[in-house]
Amino acid sequence: MNGNLCNLAPRIGVIMGMANEYSIAYGIAKTLTECNTKLIFAVQSDRFKQKIADMEEFKNSEVFVCDVSQEGDIEKLFDVIGNLYGSIDFVVHSIAFSDRKELQGKYYDTSRGNFLNAMNISCYSLTEVCKYAKEVMPNGGSILTLSYYGAEKVVPNYNVMGVVKAALEASVRYLASDLGEFNIRVNAVSAGPIKTLASSGVGGFSKILEYEQNRSPLGRNVTKDDIGKACTFLLSDFASGITGEIIHVDCGSNIVGVKF
Ligand code: NAD
Repeated sequence: MNGNLCNLAPRIGVIMGMANEYSIAYGIAKTLTECNTKLIFAVQSDRFKQKIADMEEFKNSEVFVCDVSQEGDIEKLFDVIGNLYGSIDFVVHSIAFSDRKELQGKYYDTSRGNFLNAMNISCYSLTEVCKYAKEVMPNGGSILTLSYYGAEKVVPNYNVMGVVKAALEASVRYLASDLGEFNIRVNAVSAGPIKTLASSGVGGFSKILEYEQNRSPLGRNVTKDDIGKACTFLLSDFASGITGEIIHVDCGSNIVGVKF
């Protein structure tokens, strides 16, 4: 990594939502580790805890279980982290869920149950993360979430997730406004498509990958490394004046209307 960026990289923070080495959170964690940032992981269940424990590159990191759909889990997580580490500099929220049966077909077939669950896990959780992370960021900090182009334009099969991501992007602006007085910045990276556990649930995902590769000005799809570097910048002091933004890291795909 670029030595100068590393000089201003955050000291210590929490990564939420790393399931395996294919996760976007893995790319972010890897770049931060290269900058000597101390990482604390929060994962959905013991199954994912064991996965991280088996990763040599994060062997010195502590891993906590936090199911964001469970009342009290997020509050408890930041309480424990505050007691153990005092203060932190950042949180990465890289979490989303929808029943994969509803990531295909018509959006109007979305069930009330899945709509509420997807919104709860993928959007509301960021609000609660901000509320409790603020308590362990007395000197300010940076909170980052992950969005996707399906929040802005219709993407086949993305359905309820597109609606949830639109709400997430609006949340970023409200949360950035609320937390500005505490010198806490809140931003989102709108990442281009990457094959992961979550994205493999979206119907026709390989077609989306192919489409975006052809459409993007850079002529390729993004990598976890691209996302990791952009996120490290946003978490670093180089981005000290950026808050409430949705930054596209998609090889430029979103700027292209029509391509021959
Ligand atoms: P992933 O499956 O690796 O990560 C999703 C994570 O969400 C998993 O670690 C899972 O355990 C976690 N999660 C789900 N329900 C949870 C709960 N109740 N409590 C705690 N954690 C829970 O997939 P990913 O693609 O790396 O997704 C990370 C983020 O990036 C998501 O917000 C996703 O929407 C977003 N994103 C992904 C893509 C893509 O193409 N992969 C593109 C843009 C944005």
